[in-house]
Amino acid sequence: MLLAFELVPAAIRERLELSEEPHPVLKTHCWLCCSGRFTPNGYARHRVHAKLEVVLHRFLYKLLIDPTLPNVLLLDHLCCVRKCVNPFHLEPVTHAENTRRGNALLFQAKTAPGISVHT
Ligand SMILES: [Zn+2]
Repeated sequence: MLLAFELVPAAIRERLELSEEPHPVLKTHCWLCCSGRFTPNGYARHRVHAKLEVVLHRFLYKLLIDPTLPNVLLLDHLCCVRKCVNPFHLEPVTHAENTRRGNALLFQAKTAPGISVHT
């Protein structure tokens, strides 16, 4: 996993910090983007060139996991941390599945004390 982190371009790696503890289920660290530009809903942005800016987690997923990721699929944050860009914490899902999972998580957060949705 840390080998993959070393493959991240240096200019991007400078924006990232590893989470203090590994995720309890995924067993690996979140790669937290702590600087630069973000979307209004908290996802890190990455400027590819002067006229193209993309969300950073999707850029890294395509760079390190699957360059053929179809545009119709969203990347669900399995760690529930929006500023995490670790591609191994992401799973390609349909828009409908992403919505279903988000709604289930919100329901859990409302009904089970101690469960929170991280941003
Ligand atoms: Zn993560």
